[in-house]
Amino acid sequence: MKFLKATPVNIKKAAAVIKAGGTAAFPTETVYGLGADGLNPVACARIFEIKRRPRFDPLILHAATISQAARLFRRVPTPALRLMKRFWPGPLTLVLPKSAAVPGIVTAGLATVAVRVPANPVARALIKAAGCPIAAPSANRFGRLSPTTAAHVKSQLGQGPDIILDGGRTAIGVESTIITFIKGRPVLLRPGGLPLEEIEKIAGSTVPAAGSELRAPAAPGCLKHHYAPLAKLQLIAPGQHLKPSKSAAYLAFTKRPQGRFLAVQVLSRRGGLRQAAANLFSALHALENSGAKKIYAERVPAHGLGRAIMDRLRRAALRRENTK
Ligand code: AMP
Ligand code: MG
Repeated sequence: MKFLKATPVNIKKAAAVIKAGGTAAFPTETVYGLGADGLNPVACARIFEIKRRPRFDPLILHAATISQAARLFRRVPTPALRLMKRFWPGPLTLVLPKSAAVPGIVTAGLATVAVRVPANPVARALIKAAGCPIAAPSANRFGRLSPTTAAHVKSQLGQGPDIILDGGRTAIGVESTIITFIKGRPVLLRPGGLPLEEIEKIAGSTVPAAGSELRAPAAPGCLKHHYAPLAKLQLIAPGQHLKPSKSAAYLAFTKRPQGRFLAVQVLSRRGGLRQAAANLFSALHALENSGAKKIYAERVPAHGLGRAIMDRLRRAALRRENTK
């Protein structure tokens, strides 16, 4: 890990690291973020590894401009565009249906993606120089306080990130306000650095907090069931003997199963947990799209990113049982 002052030269270095699939912690106006190329799933998997998150939560993508941000969404409804024009760059995150370019690990399998354009000049210069949207959650260890100085990042993440850019204390110090749209109306997912009253003035209406009508996850920590395949998922031991079935699909960790299945996905031939995590959501989607009624999913080793993978597979298995 290199701890560097956020000079123009060092910002370029950090951008090159991110472009090459590495990670860099950097200041935004809210808190420090742990950034990676938001369109590179293996680089994004590394974020979860460094933070030691025991589960996959969706990440916020940071863009340099409104037009770069808009390309991450399938479509931008007029009320959303109005908020973007008024509050970006700034501490407002918008959640809308994602475009095909956004990898599953960024959204934790959700069909929507969270995007913002930060105001901090270091963050903006970094995203511009990297030339890609930067996925960045707060640069803290899971469950610890969000970092507002580069020293906080260093003490929590240590040697984890390839670079920590020191750009001084963050101006706002709390996370961004997160807004989504339901039937074209803005809804609050998480209060944060941008006061709700200001959003309401531009929206021309009150902005209610997300309630139970919302099936998507609400605030951080409320992400229990946000992805479950439509097929019934059953956890099995790797290589466990099964009756092959033409209506079942198979999610392998490293090796294809014996026998025939409707569809098979292998998470990592090398047995790498980072690669497995990067492939998890697209593999599950592919198996689901095969039309399988059942998905057998091999357990993976429950250390490092394996814990987050197992968390997700367990939730998918449970969810099905609960809704039967
Ligand atoms: P952080 O980056 O640590 O500030 O946390 C990001 C938070 O954004 C997550 O914990 C979610 O609560 C929220 N979020 C990100 N993407 C989505 C999404 N697609 N739908 C709802 N909430 C989201
Ligand atoms: Mg956080």
